[in-house]
Amino acid sequence: MAENEIDFGYERIQKKEKAERVKSLFRNVASKYDLMNDLMSGGLHRIWKHEFAKALPYRGGNTYLDVAGGTGDIATLILKNLEKYGLQGRVIISDINEGMLEEGLRRAPNLSLDWTCGDAESLPFPDNFMDVYTIAFGLRNVTDKNKALQEAFRVLKPGGKFYCLEFSKVRDCLSPFYDLYSFKIVPKIGRIVAQDENAYRYLVESIRMFPNQETLKSMIENAGFQATSYKNLSQGIVAIHEGRKG
Ligand code: SAM
Repeated sequence: MAENEIDFGYERIQKKEKAERVKSLFRNVASKYDLMNDLMSGGLHRIWKHEFAKALPYRGGNTYLDVAGGTGDIATLILKNLEKYGLQGRVIISDINEGMLEEGLRRAPNLSLDWTCGDAESLPFPDNFMDVYTIAFGLRNVTDKNKALQEAFRVLKPGGKFYCLEFSKVRDCLSPFYDLYSFKIVPKIGRIVAQDENAYRYLVESIRMFPNQETLKSMIENAGFQATSYKNLSQGIVAIHEGRKG
């Protein structure tokens, strides 16, 4: 693999092009993004996101940063959980794409979230600032995943926790069905609903190119995190990884 190249799904492109390609892809599907998630996952993405939000630590005064937060699903769940436990906390959502953030703001203008535009690879936040860092279905789209993990480490306070929800390696016995669904059906749903078959083909391919559970765990450790672990959901269709800074 040439050093200046990177995957964009199964396509090889110049590293410097990836961020712009990903940005334009999500800009194009932003208004249909939530509907597409429901259709493609049969609503499962809501259950995965609930499980993810449930796994986070909740303490009064905590600052939560949801990176690649898109239209705000995870940040909203964090806010709701804080409320449920009677706690006050700050929830910041950050995404590289204004289109996704605007769609989220349009949907929930009254939520007390801090919406910020920023790249996971160079976050616009000081060192040792956050108590909890989350990234859901975002790391896959980042050009330099190791750099994003190092940034997560940088912005977390000592003792702060890192959480990632991402598509992962499904159990072998399910692979044939999963492949059939992913490669034959998902792009078709993309074409009909979002008029963008290629965006959803990229989505499926990028899932296959993403590191499996153990590899991602090693990458998180290499970024400096301790006490790393992961939990599979839905037979490994997705996994929740976590780690602690110090
Ligand atoms: N976290 C949200 C969710 O679970 O619904 C959105 C996930 S969506 C699949 C991926 C998001 O990652 C998009 O909103 C996209 O704009 C964002 N993204 C892609 N590359 C990024 C980067 N380098 N830095 C920050 N956000 C990025």
